Amino acid sequence: MAVLRCPTCGLQAPADAVRFRCECGDLLEVSHGFRTRIEPDELRARRVSSAPLDRSGVWRFRELIDHGLPAEHVVTLGEGNTPLLLSAALDAFTGIGELRVKHEGWNPTGSFKDRGMTVAMSRAVARGARRVACASTGNTAASLSAYAARAGLEAFVLVPEGATAESKLAQAAAHGARVVRVRGNFDDAMRLVEDAQEGKDLVLLNSINPFRIEGQKSIVYEILEELDWSPPDWIVFPAGNLGNTSAFGKALAELRELGLVTRLPRLAAVQAEGASPFARAFAGKFAELVPDPDPQTVASAIRIGNPVSYARAVRSLRVTDGVAIAVSDEDILQAKRAVDGAGLGAEPASCAAIAGARELRRRGVIGDGERVACVLTGHLLKDTGAPVGTPLVVEATPEALRQALG
Ligand SMILES: *Cc1c(COP(=O)(O)O)cnc(C)c1O
Repeated sequence: MAVLRCPTCGLQAPADAVRFRCECGDLLEVSHGFRTRIEPDELRARRVSSAPLDRSGVWRFRELIDHGLPAEHVVTLGEGNTPLLLSAALDAFTGIGELRVKHEGWNPTGSFKDRGMTVAMSRAVARGARRVACASTGNTAASLSAYAARAGLEAFVLVPEGATAESKLAQAAAHGARVVRVRGNFDDAMRLVEDAQEGKDLVLLNSINPFRIEGQKSIVYEILEELDWSPPDWIVFPAGNLGNTSAFGKALAELRELGLVTRLPRLAAVQAEGASPFARAFAGKFAELVPDPDPQTVASAIRIGNPVSYARAVRSLRVTDGVAIAVSDEDILQAKRAVDGAGLGAEPASCAAIAGARELRRRGVIGDGERVACVLTGHLLKDTGAPVGTPLVVEATPEALRQALG
């Protein structure tokens, strides 16, 4: 059975604890005490099973994620099972041969947030919660709202006013969540919601909730499974609040402990230059985290100046010999044109991963012939504010159309 544990001071708390921050300041994480090793063959068999839990790309890895949770509490929308795609166009763009692209935008609400949300929401239901809340740059809000609606819980989402893509807020509102626009940035909203939770019957579903991290580990499981458990050399992904950075490192360390892999891929966390406290801390050998008081980037999903999961993320890079870098908005938008032009499509934050992979290859950090998997975190339609060119409008006549098509 899972318990919560502080990795810094060792304090333990029951899995249904309400607070996720330890007195020492670090965040509690789920500690499994794995007893049995799940076999790759058993996992493969579940891919063709029609049992509801096996149909989810998160819950078919349940022994590695949240073994103790009774199945009747599970809130699932059939998340995960996203494709790992090859793209000749992106090979040409990045200079990396056989680049693999894990498209997490093809989750139920259009981002990887669904993977963590299904687990954290199920845990909230198991403890009898009536109300759930988060601060969000948009995608967590959309995901929380859908899963809360599915579970019949009341949902509150706090977003930075004027800095959140409207399509994400449209999702949240459509699912019946109370959307609160905060006059401040994401970090302000995060602080507010953490305070509001104190002493209230309100379960916080931000990635400080350790069960979010557990669900997000399944991105790594699916990548490895698709490669027959032969790890790539690199996993490259965008990084904002550092939930994925934390989850991927934890997933890999646990898989090594279980003997499912012996060699770990190196993690590459990519930030936007205007919101890059983690990349700067990495460059300074993690001596300190200096938050960005006013983070700025076109990639609104990673516009975060004071990442909550910093300490966890540092451990992830250390255990995987990982790196963190920052790329410019210009590079992100150039990568977005390549991703969209390749027929995949993704929101700007996701494309930071492609820009980062290209930059790491250019610098020779990613070596010749190394195997790379990139994670695209959100769907193209999540952020339609980006320019799409001049619209072509014609009279409804064959001549006008012939002329327009040239
Ligand atoms: C949340 C989000 C991120 C950032 O992920 P973290 O785990 O917070 O670092 C990146 N891209 C998209 C599209 C997101 O929604």
